[in-house]
This record gives sequence, C-alpha cells and structure tokens, in this order.
Amino acid sequence: MSTLADLLPRRAAERGDAPAVSLDDAVLSWADLDDRTARVAGLLRGGGLQPGDRVAIVLPNLPHFPVVYFGALRAGAVVVPMNPLLHEREVRHHLTDSGATWVFAWKDVAERVAAGAEGTGARVVVVDPTDGGALLAGVDRDDAIHPAGDDDTAVLLYTSGTTGSPKGAELSHRNLLSNAVTSHETLIQLGPDDVVLGALPLFHAFGQTCAQNTALVGGARLTLLPRFSAEAALRVVERDRVTRFLGVPTMYVALVHAPDSPADTSSLTRCISGGASLPVEVLKAFEERYGCAILEGYGLSETSPVASFNLPDRVRKPGSIGVPVRGCEMDLRTPDGAPTPEGEVGEIVIRGENVMKGYWRNESATRSAIDADGWFRSGDLARRDEDGYYTIVDRAKDMIIRSGYNVYPREVEEVLYEHPAVEQAAVVGIPDDEHGEEIGAAVVLRAGHTATEQELREHVAAALAAYKYPRRIWFVDDLPKGPTGKILKREIKP
Ligand code: AMP
Repeated sequence: MSTLADLLPRRAAERGDAPAVSLDDAVLSWADLDDRTARVAGLLRGGGLQPGDRVAIVLPNLPHFPVVYFGALRAGAVVVPMNPLLHEREVRHHLTDSGATWVFAWKDVAERVAAGAEGTGARVVVVDPTDGGALLAGVDRDDAIHPAGDDDTAVLLYTSGTTGSPKGAELSHRNLLSNAVTSHETLIQLGPDDVVLGALPLFHAFGQTCAQNTALVGGARLTLLPRFSAEAALRVVERDRVTRFLGVPTMYVALVHAPDSPADTSSLTRCISGGASLPVEVLKAFEERYGCAILEGYGLSETSPVASFNLPDRVRKPGSIGVPVRGCEMDLRTPDGAPTPEGEVGEIVIRGENVMKGYWRNESATRSAIDADGWFRSGDLARRDEDGYYTIVDRAKDMIIRSGYNVYPREVEEVLYEHPAVEQAAVVGIPDDEHGEEIGAAVVLRAGHTATEQELREHVAAALAAYKYPRRIWFVDDLPKGPTGKILKREIKP
C-alpha cells in the first residue's frame, strides 16, 4: 500500500496544470501542489526534521493547509492539525503532549501560537498568505518521499473523545489512505471534472478526509471556503461549478433558511452530511429548495472518520446513518460490553482499517476505548434495523434521565424541527430536584415567524410520551457552535 504523500507526484504527472486547490481566484495546479509540497519537505529536512517528528499546523482553510500537510507527510513527519481558535494554554497543551518540534502558524494567530509554543522547543514558522510565497522562495525541492509503513503514524487528531481533556487520536497511513479511498470509491465518487467545496475545517477529521484527502485520491479540484456562511457558499458553488458539497447539519440549516439567492446551484450532484444528526425536516427542505440529494453518514476522529453511510448504490433511509462502509464493521453493545439484543438500543462499537492505533502516549485511555478484539467504543447510542441500517438515538453522554426514564434529546429535537416556526433547536437536561433532570429546549425561531413556549410544548407533547416533552423552552438568537459547526450542548443553559 502506498501513502497519501505518494499520490501527489502521480496526480501531478496525470493532471499537470489542471486546478487542484483554490481559494477565490488563487489557484494551485496539481503541478504547483506537487512542487510546493516537495519544497516544504525540503524546508523541513533541511531544518533537521527526522521521520516521525511531529509537525503542527495551525491554519484555516487556505491552500497552505494541504501544502504543509502533504509536504510534512512527504518528509516522513507526523502531522498535528490544530484549530486556529485555540487559546495559548490549549496550544501549549497540544504542542507539549504531541512533542511537536515545528509549528506552522497562520500570521493572524502567530502571536498566540508563539506564546503557547514558548518553552516547548517547537520552532514557529509564520505562514503569511499575502507574502507572495516568501516562505518557500529559495527552498529546493526534496523529491525523496519518506517510505512510510502502513502502520506508521501519519496524523494526530486531537479530540475530546467521549470524556476528558483532548487526546491525540493516532491515525496511521493505512487508516487515512484507506478511508479516503473508500470514501472516494463508494460514496463521494469523484472524477477529474468534479469540484469539492471545502467548507468544513481541514484540521478536523471530516473535512480532512472527505474533502481534502478524497479530492487528492480522486484527482478532483478542492475549492476552499475559510469561513462558512450560506451566502458565501452559494456564491462559490455558482462561481466554481461545485459538484460535491459536504457539511454538518447546521450548514444545511443555514442553507435552507438563506434569503432567496439568484445563485445557480444546478452543478451540485451530491451532498454529504455528517458530524451530527441531520433532522429529517432539514433534509427534506434542503432537497426541495436545491434539488440535490443529501447522503448522511457517521464517524469520529478516532475512525478516520468515516464509519457508516447511506451509500449511493443502496436504498437511502433518511434519519439513519446507513450501513458500515467497506473495511469497517459495526455492532451494538450493552453497558457491560455484551451484544445488544436485536432491535434494542446499544452503544456503537467499530472495528476495521479505519480505527485509530490508539490515543497518543495514553495507554489507559486507549485500553478503555479499544478492547482486546479491536472493537472501538464510540460513546454513541443507536438501533439497527432488519436491513442492517443504524439510527443514532443520541450520544450516551447527552442522554437525559428524567425520573428514571431515558430521554434522547435527538428524538425531541426532530419533533421541534417539524414546527414551521422553528429554525434551530437543541434539547438538554436541566438539573431538577424532583425529577433529577428536566427536559429543556433552546430554540431559534425563523425570521418573520412567531411561536410561544406553550405552543411549542403542546406541539411536542402531541407527538411524544408525556415524560419527553420539554417543560422549559427558551428562545435564543443563535445556538453556540464549535469550529465544525456542531452545536455545543454543554454550553446551553436556560
Ligand atoms: P468528532 O470526533 O469531532 O468527529 O465527533 C464524533 C461524534 O460526532 C460522534 O461520536 C457522534 O456523536 C457525532 N456524529 C457524527 N456523525 C453523526 C451523525 N450522522 N449523527 C449523529 N451524530 C453524529
């Protein structure tokens, strides 16, 4: 098996001057990408980098991200992508924990990164997109691609996992390449004329594999959008004739409710959703407005990330996360680790070529996440139907227990989204003396629509068992979201 880094010179030979990565009107061809990554490898090796050394990247979705990422892989480094929004102490934690010796930091956050890097021994390289390529000017190409083994570590993806402080999910070359190849061949299916919109952050698993690495495998163009808004995304879709859009549900919500736009989106032929549950009402409204089907799937940083999907060659079941992808097994377990009786809710466990090696230098966390047979515990609860399709009921840690009854926020949210006045909804548990926890809902109303707390409560109560409807509903202008656009449940309080 080869590695992602090996593919670049091959793509450059096949595709030459065809566009590989672009941001607005700045376009890197495949030949440019090959050249710049070879020069990043030259810069690193010339600076003393040894295979296995960690190289951190703190960049938004600029073409420099893939340039440094693939350049570092060519040189045999382990890449540590980091969110540019991290604060100084978080930067220090990531650098110290990974033992990074280099950190490539975007100019706008370089000061904070340098402060976090102080005393860690990491060398800070400032990436200034406006300097006309000064960083690599005068650096010679280094064409020797490090012959990495399949099981060598390629990337450390920091994630909180289901508990605790951020840990580095250690992903091997096999993990990353096989997940990108599977995503390309069975799901995203790119040809040379396809254009992938990179709106998801590339430092996160979903954008990294499904947009960046899959575009490399498929030889398709990646057009980047550093800050998502529905208006900006629609503009790029029209301008670059985007064929594949990948997003998290909050992006689809924004696109559904975007003001009428003259943008021509007829180039879109496939949309992909993951990262959180896509409410069925949002899927329907999106497809009605834009005329392009959404395929929903599921995964985690620890699984590179793609684990299951509604695949294009199978029956689609809206609301479900589909079936395990090629090379990946999924099952459901009880809290004791036993197989879940058919039809019942259990924790998803995953095994296969996409499952990480473990958490970086954290034996105990690895041992509690992956059992002796190689099954990784996801912390997500789901059911499986008779066709083998999985439906997430919720994350185990988001489940609310009211008077001893389990309430899955997702089920309540689905019903709230069915109300015509609701644009966004998040259901959370509120500590309660009488019931232990009470059901609460933060709701964003659609512009120009009104609804009272009472009306929404009755709407849910009419659809669900009495212990499930939200006793408290409050209205907010927006919901707190993380860097990928996922709703941050822990920050929601009445
Ligand atoms: P991350 O490691 O940041 O990619 O987050 C992984 C988590 O995202 C999973 O453990 C799930 O809780 C959640 N997730 C991903 N895809 C879906 C989906 N389609 N439906 C519900 N939750 C999802």
